[in-house]
Parts: sequence; C-alpha cells; structure tokens
Amino acid sequence: MASQEIEALSSALARLPGLGPRSARRAVLWLIKRRETMLTPLIDALVSVRDRLVECTTCGNVDTANPCSICTDPRRDPRSICVVEEVADLWALDRARLFTGRYHVLGGRLSALEGIRPEDLTIGRLIDRVAAGNIDEVVLAMNATLEGQTTAHYIAERLESWPVRLTQLAHGLPVGGELDYLDEGTLAQALRARRPVS
Ligand SMILES: [Zn+2]
Repeated sequence: MASQEIEALSSALARLPGLGPRSARRAVLWLIKRRETMLTPLIDALVSVRDRLVECTTCGNVDTANPCSICTDPRRDPRSICVVEEVADLWALDRARLFTGRYHVLGGRLSALEGIRPEDLTIGRLIDRVAAGNIDEVVLAMNATLEGQTTAHYIAERLESWPVRLTQLAHGLPVGGELDYLDEGTLAQALRARRPVS
C-alpha cells in the first residue's frame, strides 16, 4: 500500500497530458529517490511558476509581466498578428525567429467532438484587437489538422469585413502535424511561404 502522500502526488501527475497512472507512480518514486537533485529543484520551479507567471490579457502568452514581453517589445511590428492555438505553438514559432510581429493565442481549437465552441476560445479578443485598428496582417498559424484548419476558416470568415491581409502557413507542414513538434527549419519554411487565405 502506497502512502496517502504518494497516492495524492501520483494522481495529480497522472492528470498531466501524456502521463498515465503507471508512469506517474514511477515518476513519484524516481523523485523520492532523488530528493536533493530532482525533488527540491522541481518544487522550487513549480512554486516560482505559480507565483511569478501570469497570462497576458492581450495575447494570451504566459510571462512574468502583463502585457507580456512580446506585446511590449518595441522592435516587434504591432501591425502584424500571428494567431496560434496554444502558447507552446507561440514559443515554437518564436524559436524560429522569423516572425517579427506579435501573437494571439486562441487557447485551443474548435472541436465539435469535444464541444469546443468559438466563445470558448479567445476569438472575440482577436476581433477586438483587429477592430481597434492599425493591424495590416493576420497570420493564421493553426495546426495542420482538420480541427486546426476548421478554426482557421472560421476566423477568416469572422475577419472578412475588416481591411486586413489574411495569410496562413503554407502546407508543407505534415498533415496531422502539430507545430510544437516540428523542427525550426520546417517551421521557418512554412512561415516564409505563408500565403493569402483563399
Ligand atoms: Zn502578450
């Protein structure tokens, strides 16, 4: 019988994406055996994330400041917004260092299956940003999945009446592929070859 503490931590970890109950229990035991080298640094990192990180109310990025360091960076072009599904996609694109505008994180993608509707995402906030003016281009950088592309089409329709250039990442991305898993070269190429939404 495992102690209550181990059970509590295991079940918390098992709720993380990609971790099941079995691997969560293994991780807990692994941490306990490495109290000084792994457990304590992990606790410190978790506390620091909890206490210091906030969500940017403009773009949805996660940073120590709100608005975030991307939204307030004067070297970035405020007239260009790249729309992504998740914060991890923003970070992946930004690692490619090719896009010099700002971002908008949707917080997911439309999904009939999972019951995710437009109002569950930050699409309204995106429309508000475009409506506020001074935006020339919106890059739709959704995942090359059916749901990602459905989301891109929906946003394109919602933005139709605004005088902005709508572009999307070129297909060259693997079908069913997710941005966060791609290498920087592939991502950079896809960004370079972005084209108007047809
Ligand atoms: Zn921001």
